[in-house]
Amino acid sequence: MKEILKKAQKEHYALGAFNFSTAEILKATVLAAKELSSPIIVATSEGEGGFIGFREAAALVGVWREAAKLPIILNLDHGKNLDIIKKAVAAGYDAVHFDGSGLSYKENIEQTSKAVKYIREYSKTFDRDVIIEGEIGYLRGASSLHQEKLEIKESDLTSPEQALDFIEQTGVDSLAIVIGNAHGVFAAGEEKLHLDRLAAIKKEVGDKVFLVLHGGSGIPAEDVKKAIELGIVKVNINTELRLAYKAGLEKEFAASPSETTPYKMLQPSIDEVKKVVMEKIKLFGSENKININN
Ligand SMILES: [Zn+2]
Repeated sequence: MKEILKKAQKEHYALGAFNFSTAEILKATVLAAKELSSPIIVATSEGEGGFIGFREAAALVGVWREAAKLPIILNLDHGKNLDIIKKAVAAGYDAVHFDGSGLSYKENIEQTSKAVKYIREYSKTFDRDVIIEGEIGYLRGASSLHQEKLEIKESDLTSPEQALDFIEQTGVDSLAIVIGNAHGVFAAGEEKLHLDRLAAIKKEVGDKVFLVLHGGSGIPAEDVKKAIELGIVKVNINTELRLAYKAGLEKEFAASPSETTPYKMLQPSIDEVKKVVMEKIKLFGSENKININN
């Protein structure tokens, strides 16, 4: 699984990490990736995984991986609780994001190191190499549509020196950084990336770690493209999928208020989510990259 990210890092494109909490959102994402022959990461947060079920999520992804013949990495997004992380690894998740960004820097290092040790040890039981992501910097917002204006302070941004120190001390494979990104889509004021900060971080850490951009929804496409050129290899997308899903439902309920067949009611949502995922795959440059040996 790591090879999929290594190839992206080497060839300067990024993988989308698309969140799901229902079978049809996963289906829409996989169909989009299939159509564009793109490797993908699919993810559940602790809450999303709790809803669909961790084992159920892993089983569905396993079936899709075979049916669509695609490299699909299943990731636990924003894991904070070691019991849930353990559950996800046991269920078959290929990657885990341990989010200690709410802690002080020192505590974040302590907790992340502990989590890395724990996951490495625990995943041996299953004979699998789990990809581990850490996070530093203050990432604002939640995965929803925000009416308030986004304000990101200079002090929220990830420091290049800390990024290197953090990966050396914790041994993470991937690192989520804050460079002007935030969770969610903001109605007022746009999210501008501090690309100079990203360049400085990349200069410091080189290829020692996979750099991750959270809150990919709502960032201008040009900025995302430049960020990928500068070394981002994983871009998380959640809110835009949620908005597309909801828009599909609203459209359907307005057009056919008497419809009661779930698979008919859900089709417009699948179409909307698929459209967004396809757009993102094209933007991230992962189209036609499923062969990891070339
Ligand atoms: Zn995130």
